Amino acid sequence: MPNRADFDAANASYVAGFSAGGKPMPPKRQALVIACMDARLHPEKALGVEIGDIHVVRNAGGRAVDALRSVTISQQLLGTTEIYILHHTDCGMLTFSTAQLQGIVKERLGADDGTVYHEFSDLEQSVRDDVALLRASPLVAPGTPITGGVYDVHTGKITWLE
Ligand SMILES: [Zn+2]
Repeated sequence: MPNRADFDAANASYVAGFSAGGKPMPPKRQALVIACMDARLHPEKALGVEIGDIHVVRNAGGRAVDALRSVTISQQLLGTTEIYILHHTDCGMLTFSTAQLQGIVKERLGADDGTVYHEFSDLEQSVRDDVALLRASPLVAPGTPITGGVYDVHTGKITWLE
């Protein structure tokens, strides 16, 4: 566990300066962001939000289909009323196909992988597809404003597409 000691030291420092322990569970800004797990994207920093402000759901690609369970919990139990989709330039999801990854899993792990990975070949279209998926979903509260954008990993700039 090569990172464990560093993580512990960093957390001790974090705890020493921590003052956000009194926040309520529902996000203050009533927003949910679905973002890619890419290590170059820090949604909270890019959006200027603090502890307690928003929900951030992350997965490979920031795909809405993987986030629906969290969207329901966020909206129905914790009061969020707007949703943002955040994909990014140079995403790993642009670099493989489900068939290729299933082949890698078979070769390296010996497992038959039935997972659909929801990779994409067009970044902006992937954002529009996820906005459309949420708008069409019966699990998303009717009338929820849904915005999709692209984060540029080279500049930090977010461009909203719709
Ligand atoms: Zn990504």
